[in-house]
Amino acid sequence: MNLYEWEGKELLKKHGIAVPKSVLVRRGEDFAAAYRSLNIPSVVVKAQVLSGKRGKNNGVIFANTEQEVIDAVQKLFEKTILGQFVNAVLIEEKLEIKKEHYVSITYETLDASPVLILGWGKGGVDIEDVAAKDIMKISYDIRREYADSGLETHQLWNVFRQEDARLVEINPLVETPSGKFIAADAKFALDDDAFFRHKDWENYEARSMLGRLPTEREVAVQQIDAGEGYYRGTAGKYIEMDGNIAILFSGGGASIANMDALIKAGLSPANYTEYSGNPPREKVHALAKIVLSKPGLKGLWIAGGVANFTNIADTFAGIVDALDEIKPSYPIVIRRAGPFEKEGMRLMRKCAERNNLNIQIFGKETSMSETANILATQINKS
Ligand code: GDP
Ligand code: MN
Repeated sequence: MNLYEWEGKELLKKHGIAVPKSVLVRRGEDFAAAYRSLNIPSVVVKAQVLSGKRGKNNGVIFANTEQEVIDAVQKLFEKTILGQFVNAVLIEEKLEIKKEHYVSITYETLDASPVLILGWGKGGVDIEDVAAKDIMKISYDIRREYADSGLETHQLWNVFRQEDARLVEINPLVETPSGKFIAADAKFALDDDAFFRHKDWENYEARSMLGRLPTEREVAVQQIDAGEGYYRGTAGKYIEMDGNIAILFSGGGASIANMDALIKAGLSPANYTEYSGNPPREKVHALAKIVLSKPGLKGLWIAGGVANFTNIADTFAGIVDALDEIKPSYPIVIRRAGPFEKEGMRLMRKCAERNNLNIQIFGKETSMSETANILATQINKS
């Protein structure tokens, strides 16, 4: 999970790293009152989005008066930054800058260890252009505390380790004329696999990189992988769209190609979703229930390639649970193969019989894209 700048700065502050004074505002709030509460005339007004590069994309505005602040906040709320929905705006004390440094800790896959990356005096919006020779990399031993290393970066190491981050980046770390070091920006990626150690992560608000707020169903699906049975498979990926064909895909790559096949067949998706890695019946049930809860559906396409280790019977049992509850009247087309496929198909047929559903089932002898055309034909007939 990626954090917003203001959330990242709260974590930095918790570990003793200085951040500028600031106040966060949401749409519809009293921006002027927020600004006055800071009691600092010169501020930086910053769009809170999940991408970086705001400085180069009009997401960071300097302001010196109440009116300038109001204008800046309004302007930021009216647009997206690099396709990202502006979720909140941070009004922040403007720092005086003597130097901008780049500091981050992340995992270096080549060394199979965390690495501290330093661009001393090289921070700022042009960090991508800094020559490799000006960037220092220091590997960490994940088992060690570094309070005694002599490096002042041990606080950052503590943040990285104790907060289970995959990335902590401060760019710029501002050095002020009076010699203070203050984190003017914060970028965090948390390691979702450490969720069990951080119950408080549940309190982070729902987020989406789609350029809009997540829908209710998208938020609900995100919860599936956070709950019980988290450690087997994923079923928490769901993007809502404008169309009316419900999608239940399994596996990644083929699923993307299936979206094209669906559109080529003249149909339009109500959602994109995929489950993978042999998730338990309960997770697939939860996912199917949410996918089928969207109003106005005209068809359901359940498709996936030939699974290697996903149990078709068990995952289909989860879909059957949802079909038993919802009993859709629109056409359903299924294409799937893999371990326990016979049992899986039998469960589907039984479900169709007892609920009088319009289901057509195909195995690996029929291509996935062909079954999109079959679904289109069924829908045109009905
Ligand atoms: P990013 O472009 O999304 O990484 O946004 P940043 O928060 O890093 O801001 C972009 C740039 O704005 C920084 O590199 C600074 O040059 C400038 N900036 C941000 N905060 C301040 C500040 O408090 N004072 C001054 N003088 N410049 C700032
Ligand atoms: Mn930055």
